[in-house]
Amino acid sequence: MAEVLVYVDHVDGAVRKPTLELLTLARRVGEPVAVALGPGAEATAATLAEHGATRVLTADAAEFADYLVVPKVDALQAAYESVSPAAVLVPSSAEGKEIAARLAVRIGSGIITDAIDIEAGDEGPVATQSVFAAAFTTKSRVSKGTPVITVKPNSAPVEAAPAAGAVEALAVSFSDKATGTKVVSRTPRESTGRPELTEAAIVVSGGRGVNGAENFALIEGLADSLGAAVGASRAAVDAGWYPHTSQVGQTGKSVSPQLYVATGISGAIQHRAGMQTSKTIVAINKDPEAPIFDLVDYGVVGDLFEVVPQLTDEIKSR
Ligand code: FAD
Repeated sequence: MAEVLVYVDHVDGAVRKPTLELLTLARRVGEPVAVALGPGAEATAATLAEHGATRVLTADAAEFADYLVVPKVDALQAAYESVSPAAVLVPSSAEGKEIAARLAVRIGSGIITDAIDIEAGDEGPVATQSVFAAAFTTKSRVSKGTPVITVKPNSAPVEAAPAAGAVEALAVSFSDKATGTKVVSRTPRESTGRPELTEAAIVVSGGRGVNGAENFALIEGLADSLGAAVGASRAAVDAGWYPHTSQVGQTGKSVSPQLYVATGISGAIQHRAGMQTSKTIVAINKDPEAPIFDLVDYGVVGDLFEVVPQLTDEIKSR
């Protein structure tokens, strides 16, 4: 059976959920071979094996931490050359998309980004994407080279599928470009204790209707009652009410949670672009004509300042 390379997103050996989702999809196309880089790479092996990785190629070097993405592209290319895979799957994070794009250029392959599903096809893997505010899904396959596909978080279930997960050292020689951009410093973001926006199973977002930074406490209260991440529309971010790192949409982050709750958000196309693939969408908006209601599974027409506190209390009481 053909092998499929899976790029591992991990923090000091703790594998992030989108990688486990990639392993589920990779198993539909071939035998997953994981590529884990940087500090803690070997520590990822047990988790990856539990989820179907037949082999785990690891490499650690100062270059991975000290420079931006090129060393990782060098390593992924080395893995590609040693494995000759049927496809390369990478999580659709900002870094993942850059790594995937650079690899595709280097190996002369086509790339599909932001897939929400992958299935095996007669002529190679077929990827599904959601387009035009979720009005259409498209299925496509790469017709040149080895398919490089990035997959959005929350697109596939995490499944236990025990496999060998044999750890093998990956030999990497870094290119001249690897040390082109050096990391000068890292400042950890203050932790909110909430899940990462792009990985959260539930996201509660606030828009211009929230009407002030201080009122975002309401949105945070609802989010905390659900164990959710907090998002914001660009209008709320531009007004300085919430950080840009929480912006959902075309120029913000793409989320695809099980549940997305939009409060005081009209549903502009640029906002939809970042949340349209959410499994269940709920909107709270006082305007019954707001375009967001065209998209929702459940809509509440009402003043968020009345609805959100009641909803939070109800959820907390259960
Ligand atoms: P509005 O459109 O002003 O909607 C506010 C909503 O709140 C209204 O529907 C109103 O009825 C409701 N409301 C008001 N008060 C209450 C209340 N008390 N209770 C309940 N409901 C209430 N936008 C993004 O979000 N993300 C992006 O990444 C993004 N990128 C963009 C890129 C470009 C190139 C451009 C041109 C625009 C982009 N935008 C983006 C902006 C986008 O076009 C909209 O302007 C923005 O999404 C509007 O945000 P909003 O829904 O919060 O505000």
